[in-house]
Amino acid sequence: MCAQKDMLMNEMHKRPGQPATEQLSRDTTFMNAEWLASLSHELRNPLAAIKGYTTLLLRHHGQLSSEEQYELLQSIASGSDQLAYVINMLQEVADFEANLVVFHPLSIDINQLIHDVVMDMQRDNQPKGIAQRAIQISLTPLTNQSEKWLISADQILLRRLLFYLLENAHKFSPEQNPINITTMRFSPAASNTLPEYLRYDPAFLQQPLLELRIQDKGIGIPAEDLESIFERFQRVNLTLTREVNGLGLGLTLCKYIVALHHGLIWAESTLGTGSTFHVLLPAN
Ligand code: ADP
Repeated sequence: MCAQKDMLMNEMHKRPGQPATEQLSRDTTFMNAEWLASLSHELRNPLAAIKGYTTLLLRHHGQLSSEEQYELLQSIASGSDQLAYVINMLQEVADFEANLVVFHPLSIDINQLIHDVVMDMQRDNQPKGIAQRAIQISLTPLTNQSEKWLISADQILLRRLLFYLLENAHKFSPEQNPINITTMRFSPAASNTLPEYLRYDPAFLQQPLLELRIQDKGIGIPAEDLESIFERFQRVNLTLTREVNGLGLGLTLCKYIVALHHGLIWAESTLGTGSTFHVLLPAN
């Protein structure tokens, strides 16, 4: 999945235009020892691979077949991709928090975008990638007349949002379980399903809203963590989570992206059964 990650990362940075004026919420979580240990692990592992394979190549390059050399170079490239991914993610959080991310809303067809992101992620056939996963997409058209769900959104940022949510659904659920992606119109009558901790103006629910759901049948999230996982560096303290690489930044970035779109994001989950991430976006 690394080439796809890299492409998405590079798309966002250094975009011309005015900085977004939206004041993003900032949490004051300090980097704790556990997080620093995760960061050093995320940096040290690919670095060790790059160093190890480069040393092998330098020491034995006369004796290695071209296939062996090619394999070593592939491992070096994949380690470099991983390293770039971690560094880019840190940079991305820093850019959001310094209000440097440029917001370019355009009229986009969200259903088309979902298909494109899924296809891109499945095409990128990395060993632990999403290519073999069944992804069920159920997209409700906006009206009977139109197949399209046109919303005003920043295409690059929305691609990132989908990428992070799908990547988590993939990382935290067994390979054989499908992931469901659904879009529908959000009914104000369903406002009692929103968690109490979400802050929004009641007028928000009176406008046409698109609801996007990404549902997995994975390890699930304990109820007491459903709010905090959107804060920086927060990961659920389950043995199963600790087996999966990550820094606890993807959902923070999702929260920032949704805030720029004046939307809402939250998760519901049953431990051991699966999780659903909901995103509400203004649809006019
Ligand atoms: P990362 O995935 O890099 O750890 P995120 O900010 O994307 O960081 O997610 C924070 C934490 O929320 C994860 O570490 C995991 O504990 C939990 N989480 C996120 N998505 C899911 C999911 N689909 N299923 C189970 N747990 C999840």
